[in-house]
Amino acid sequence: MPAPRVRIAPSPTGPLHIGTARTALFNYLYARRNGGTFVLRLEDTDVARSTLAFEADILEQLHWLGITWDEGPDAAGGEDRGPFGPYRQMQRLERYAEAAARVLAEDKAYPCYCTPEELDADRKAQEAAHKPPRYVGRCANLTLEERAARETEGKRGALRFRVPAGKIRFDDLVRGEVEIDTANLGGDFVIVRSDGTPLYHFTVVVDDAAMEMTHIIRGEDHLSNTPKHILLFQALGHTVPAFAHLPLILNPDRTKMSKRKSQTAIADYRAQGFIPEALVNYLALLGWSTGTEEEILSLDELAGRFDLEHVQKGGAVFDRERLEWLNGQWIRRLDAEDLIERLQPFLEADRDAGRIDLVPSPEELRPLVPIIQERLPTLGAIGDLVGFLWIEDLSVDTVTLVPKRWDRDTTLAALRAAREAILESIGPVTFEADELEPPLRALAEARGWKAGDLFMAIRVAVTGRTATPPLFDSLVALGRERTLARLDRAIATLEGMEVPA
Ligand code: GLU
Repeated sequence: MPAPRVRIAPSPTGPLHIGTARTALFNYLYARRNGGTFVLRLEDTDVARSTLAFEADILEQLHWLGITWDEGPDAAGGEDRGPFGPYRQMQRLERYAEAAARVLAEDKAYPCYCTPEELDADRKAQEAAHKPPRYVGRCANLTLEERAARETEGKRGALRFRVPAGKIRFDDLVRGEVEIDTANLGGDFVIVRSDGTPLYHFTVVVDDAAMEMTHIIRGEDHLSNTPKHILLFQALGHTVPAFAHLPLILNPDRTKMSKRKSQTAIADYRAQGFIPEALVNYLALLGWSTGTEEEILSLDELAGRFDLEHVQKGGAVFDRERLEWLNGQWIRRLDAEDLIERLQPFLEADRDAGRIDLVPSPEELRPLVPIIQERLPTLGAIGDLVGFLWIEDLSVDTVTLVPKRWDRDTTLAALRAAREAILESIGPVTFEADELEPPLRALAEARGWKAGDLFMAIRVAVTGRTATPPLFDSLVALGRERTLARLDRAIATLEGMEVPA
């Protein structure tokens, strides 16, 4: 088997989408596993919707994920690399024009002068007769004189590809044998508009042929395009590549994942603090499995194992909880300095949004790593987890201060007693987690309180939250002075609370 050539062909009409990232990853992994070449080609012919900013996002997020390509532009608007360039379709227009002239000369395509009104009327008539839409073939058999006459009238024909009768069979590497009767393709289809702009089906095949693609690995939403593409490869006299259609990515309710219903931009996951190690791991498992129980795999490990045999046929349900779990697993694998560095932008964002007052230095973060690393589902969760440490003026409302099973007076008594216990039994020099726990447990026992309730009252009083890292670690991180000051403030708040008669 010759070394495979595969590609990702994004249109820069939106930011990098989860589905495109998954397709890019599978192509990348396939190329790496099989010693092949992975090409990136930008399909930018939808000039009205394509932007440089989207192009930049697509390239930038792929780089961030660690998915590298061997040929294609590396930077938005930047130079191409590779022998089959240019890799932007808008720079390949003369190639489509040349291919169009060829299929026209060979009568594999013909100019069609039907007006939008005529086509519309055809469609309505078919609808009324409960028939699927299809080009009726009005211009399929015009003589050269008839064509010339229309051109003299100033009409410009679109180029329509002649769909031959018969069946198309191909062996999809994921779905197995697929057979389609060309009668179901909707008749002869337009490959170049009357204004000269080539359409997707045509450009994609001209380029896949010219760039010598051996395998087309893409989403199942393209399955219905494949018969047309096979006909075009044949018409252009090119070997038909192998096809592999990847399962759709579905919402948990099994509807197709869409921008409207779900978060689909890779940049949004990045902004929330998903890390690339976890995202590529997760994306790889969206429709593929190792065939074993293993699920935590690095990009390199994936590249050593990926195969199309283990790609599933059925839709792949996007499970955000599993992604968060994997992200947490990958965060635990980071070394401390790396984690500290990756947290910085999230802490800065928390400060800029006013959620914390100051951004801790790496030195301040370092001792916290053991208590936070195992508890972060995302880097962006840092503020929720321990933001209380960097708030100067924590105020907690009375409703949250009083634990569920307690009333104000009990809470007040407990916080006063806890304050005393902390003051008395622990000197100002040491303030260690193992020294804090025994006197507070003894206090709960002496007063007949559940330790859990007492700890909850203290936790809320000093952090403002009901869920934090372990209480005593949190107190140590906060320090003795601030712990006492926050207890004082909570006590004062409760003292000022109106108690309903
Ligand atoms: N530009 C097309 C898309 O983004 C490429 C489809 C293909 O891979 O053939 O859907």
